[in-house]
Amino acid sequence: MALIVHKYGGTSVGSVDRIEKVAHRLEKWHRAGHQLVVVVSAMSGETNRLISLAKEVQQNPDARELDVVASTGEQVTVGLLAMALLERGLKAKSYTGPQVHVLTDSAFNKARILNIDEKKIRADLASGTIVVVAGFQGVDEHGNITTLGRGGSDTSAVALAAALKADECLIYTDVDGVYTTDPRIVPEAQRLHRITFEEMLEMASLGSKVLQLRSVEFAGKYKVPLRVLSSMTDADTPLEEEAASGTLITFEEDIKMEKAVISGVAFERDEAKITLTHVPDRPGIAYQILGPIADANIDVDMIIQNISVDGTTDFSFTVHRNEYEKAIGVLESKVKDHIGAKQIVGDPKIAKVSIVGIGMRSHVGIASLMFRTLAEEGINMQMISTSEIKISVVVEDKYMELAVRALHKAFGLEQVAA
Ligand code: ASP
Ligand code: MG
Repeated sequence: MALIVHKYGGTSVGSVDRIEKVAHRLEKWHRAGHQLVVVVSAMSGETNRLISLAKEVQQNPDARELDVVASTGEQVTVGLLAMALLERGLKAKSYTGPQVHVLTDSAFNKARILNIDEKKIRADLASGTIVVVAGFQGVDEHGNITTLGRGGSDTSAVALAAALKADECLIYTDVDGVYTTDPRIVPEAQRLHRITFEEMLEMASLGSKVLQLRSVEFAGKYKVPLRVLSSMTDADTPLEEEAASGTLITFEEDIKMEKAVISGVAFERDEAKITLTHVPDRPGIAYQILGPIADANIDVDMIIQNISVDGTTDFSFTVHRNEYEKAIGVLESKVKDHIGAKQIVGDPKIAKVSIVGIGMRSHVGIASLMFRTLAEEGINMQMISTSEIKISVVVEDKYMELAVRALHKAFGLEQVAA
């Protein structure tokens, strides 16, 4: 018998039929003797609907009140799922986040979980009850309802699994796992059977948006084995088969040594590049450029500064394409003349392509194979950045798909059967 947390996303509980199917699947797990805590999202589209309702009333909705509204979608699905389980003759009970004391900070719309009081849940589990908990929501120390940011139910599930020391956290979703790259770009992309938390973080932040990033951070920190698997399969799939499907996100020690050096090719389309030319090369300049950018709440991704031969240098960085105009505006009004830079040049049509893999730590020649592959395709790299397990390059966005395909092939990812 194991204690297992299941999480079902919006599509998986998007209709009464789908909810019945989830109940059917849970019955199978329950009858096999497992203790189950189930976290669900709102029905697909519902959170968007609630947020636009709020915006109809207040253009910039009050953050506290927005959470009061946005959190209601999940209250509907937990109740319905508990009813579906009761209809099957099972013991089940639904809870909102505040009811099981998912304590968060007070950062409305993007709160962080601080603690979960798992006593009540444990008592229910001990009596054979399936516990259904609303994802995405919690309560702060003053009793205010909070939400965890879009896609936050993944994090609710992982946090519950951590608090309960669950044996595994299964994230059921509309894809059947994590792939070496997006199969819409490379049809030969393979499902990874296993990937490390570190790699998954790089993959998630680089654009393969299977899981909320924070949930992966949380799982890595609290050592919660996490599995992403499909909720679209037949609910009567034999349990052993289902339990081994999808992608397991786990620790390096658990991953077979013969694993490929690179686990995947990630990409981010909507980037923009900005360069300030002839920036004086002296202490404090980077801060004077990026300080006002940060004050305007603009996230900066890659940063590059060249060496200077004549006392000035070029300083480039990338931002999300949506923030390009805003960033240029900040540089025009607050930075350029102030620091004595010559020009601001920008390119809103770039993309970032990255290769990710823990194997990079122990293999040489990875960067050179990447660069040779892009050179052979005639693709110019405008910026390069590296970490211990990742190499990212910025290319013109029209070459992004070509770069992804060429790299996927060059690193033999169509034949990883990890
Ligand atoms: N319902 C919330 C959202 O749509 C949370 C979630 O689905 O994870 O963002
Ligand atoms: Mg989701």
